[in-house]
Amino acid sequence: MPKPAQTNKSSAADSTYRGRFAPSPTGPLHFGSLLAAVGSFLQARARGGKWFVRIEDIDPPREVPGATDEILRTLEAFGLHWDGEVVRQSECRAAYDDAIDQLTRLGALYPCACSRREIADSSIVGIDGPVYPGTCRDGIPQARVARALRVRTDNRAVEFIDRWQGAVHRQVQSEFGDFVLKRADGPIAYQLAVVLDDAAQGITEVVRGADLLESTPRQIHLQRLLKLTTPEYAHLPVVANGRGEKLSKQTHAAPIDRRAPLPALYRVLDILGQGASPELHGGNLADLWRWAIAHWQPSAVPRLHRVIVETELQSAGR
Ligand code: GLU
Repeated sequence: MPKPAQTNKSSAADSTYRGRFAPSPTGPLHFGSLLAAVGSFLQARARGGKWFVRIEDIDPPREVPGATDEILRTLEAFGLHWDGEVVRQSECRAAYDDAIDQLTRLGALYPCACSRREIADSSIVGIDGPVYPGTCRDGIPQARVARALRVRTDNRAVEFIDRWQGAVHRQVQSEFGDFVLKRADGPIAYQLAVVLDDAAQGITEVVRGADLLESTPRQIHLQRLLKLTTPEYAHLPVVANGRGEKLSKQTHAAPIDRRAPLPALYRVLDILGQGASPELHGGNLADLWRWAIAHWQPSAVPRLHRVIVETELQSAGR
């Protein structure tokens, strides 16, 4: 007998909910990115909300040819069907440039001539890398060339309650420093692009890996400057391998196997604290999603920054 819709204890239906999955096309999906995709998908679908896919291809040198198609085909093979058109950041450049103009008019940006080496030598290391000491805040030294545009930060409290990581309280200037929004050679920084895209897509809750938790205060700083609504934030545990390293291209995480979605999905649901009804084993993909959407319980997701998944689970997912 089909389960009644009330078995979903996650929250009341909320068709205004808009979530997203925003992979960078730096390689095929691995088990860690699958977990983020599934977590954001279930958060949206369990409430009857929308789920969008955005390809974050603003950094061409890091992009791997064919990775975008590969990622999209894998999502489809896993039954992770998105709403609307896929948004590609490479096609949003005009909106990013407009925001740079707007911030320039506000006096919020300044050119910076410092090299990485100079910054490393003159700054303390904060929660998420060197804290820029503000060397070029009042102008760049004569005969130096601007390498980047930085945004002025301040020490007003940035506070938010992350659904799984709890209360976060940060001061952007002292803990991260003025950060780069645009490099002189052209590229727009992730922090700005993500804020503009989440706003343009009307995202109401950002679900992603906890490796990006410390980007959130900077993103809220930009939302304040640009008068954009701050979405809710929900950072899922990051998947690490047996050596404690985050699964990524750099740590040689195996691509997930498109031909065998079920074992990997059972494993993801298990890690997300959802268990899986024994009757599902032996069922098909449609059965799995029906069950997972009806039974999704956000409160069961482990409130951890990181979960360890042993090496043999990375590729086959079991
Ligand atoms: N593109 C980012 C990544 O793949 C995710 C950005 C986000 O979800 O905000 O790590």
